[in-house]
Amino acid sequence: MSENKFDQPKKRMQDNFYLNSASEISRLVNQQKVSALEVTKYFLARAKELNKELQAFNFFTEELALEQAEKVDQAIQKEQKQFKLAGVPVGIKDNLCVKSVRATCSSRILENFISPYESTVTSRLWEAGAICLGKTNLDEFAMGSSTENSAFQKTKNPWDQSRVPGGSSGGSASAVAAKMVPIALGSDTGGSIRQPASFCGVIGMKPTYGTVSRFGLIAFASSLDQVGPLANSIEDLQLTLSVISGHDPKDSTSLPLKLNFYDKRFYSKERQNLRGLKLGIFSSLVREAEKNSPEIFACFQKSLEFLRSQGAELIELELKYSKEYALDVYYIIAPAEASSNLSRYDGIRYGVPRKEHSGENELLLDFYKKTRQEGFGKEVKRRIMIGTHVLSSGYYDAYYKKAQDFRQLIREEFKEAFDQVELILSPTSLLTAFQFGEREDPLSMYLCDLATIPANLAELPALSINSGFDSKNLPIGLQIISKKLQEYKILDFARFYEKSYLLAEQGVY
Ligand code: GLN
Repeated sequence: MSENKFDQPKKRMQDNFYLNSASEISRLVNQQKVSALEVTKYFLARAKELNKELQAFNFFTEELALEQAEKVDQAIQKEQKQFKLAGVPVGIKDNLCVKSVRATCSSRILENFISPYESTVTSRLWEAGAICLGKTNLDEFAMGSSTENSAFQKTKNPWDQSRVPGGSSGGSASAVAAKMVPIALGSDTGGSIRQPASFCGVIGMKPTYGTVSRFGLIAFASSLDQVGPLANSIEDLQLTLSVISGHDPKDSTSLPLKLNFYDKRFYSKERQNLRGLKLGIFSSLVREAEKNSPEIFACFQKSLEFLRSQGAELIELELKYSKEYALDVYYIIAPAEASSNLSRYDGIRYGVPRKEHSGENELLLDFYKKTRQEGFGKEVKRRIMIGTHVLSSGYYDAYYKKAQDFRQLIREEFKEAFDQVELILSPTSLLTAFQFGEREDPLSMYLCDLATIPANLAELPALSINSGFDSKNLPIGLQIISKKLQEYKILDFARFYEKSYLLAEQGVY
């Protein structure tokens, strides 16, 4: 059994046998075998203690948590209410708004911003009985792949504290891996849920674009951003997704439908094998892994062998555009959208006004400039400059428009691929968790997203699940992608993989 130093399942079982999963907590709280308040206090104490080392949370919302827990207990005891996530503590990425709580985006510019309203996803969590434990660290404005771009602190990877947790949802991934919370929310624009999930050995999913509301998510790149869950089991992940997904009139990109978790033509609760299932292999990417990441390649091949032995048919897919151009396309479109989204932080309506501003001898433009100069970190400024450049009149066609054309080619490439297969598999990342400071060159950081970006560009759902460990005992992720709105296929497959491969064969967890 693999365990990181912070998560010793046997010890946790002795301490508090019931605290092993969100689903289990919810069952016990609903049955009044344990109160939401007890659970909340346990996790608050545990998370605060572990946070001294891991720095996964920017801050805790203790008062709110205790208040919510009492309400849940009362509703269960007095009104006989039942909840889907009764008393389940959650970590919320600090780019999501919780009413009357700070939403910092791990940026100086929003350091003291208190959200006046509640995001749809969090309001759905609280309605389902979940408890807000605190806000988790991220790369500033979700730009990055290691959480090192946070203006506040360095979140550590529970598997090795000299290493990053991945990013940008590194705080959420680290917190879930160390069982500071059973579940957490992240956001994924180019891999920010899946890559940290992979680095921290947990499960993370980016659902189909438009299925989870982004009302109250502080925007990075609006044609790519999606909110999604991180968890330690498929059961918990699905439960969380079922709570947060569904149409929201407050988000104009929200699809007018409820996510389907069940299709009897595909679903089989007690799947015995994978006979007849056609699985695509993202082979151009896998070749790259073979060349540059032999341990990840070997781990991936081992999973494939198992899947083949279970009757799956493996089909090689080249996905040339996704491999060759996705990164370039993303690093034009995402900064372009970011430069526009971030223009609102002027120090007046949003963004803390600089303390020394006199208001008298300073021109407004200078005030803006200084606020942004001091408020934004290096990477955010770099993105704003790239974005402004690719959108400027002389370069728009050459960069932005061309990137949009290639995005379309990537969408079509996936569409054709899904005529042949049900799911597409690849490693989630061609790296395992790296050391702090190891990737200072921005281009080498951007390369971290090679495997995850295509799903964002094509608006597809994709999940990362642990598939084993390298020789340094660092987790390796497997990515599973499906057609739009076929989350149920990913989840059904991943549940089988979890049960028959990870638990039965590998002894992972
Ligand atoms: N690492 C990518 C970036 O820096 C993706 C970030 C994300 O998904 N939010 O843009």
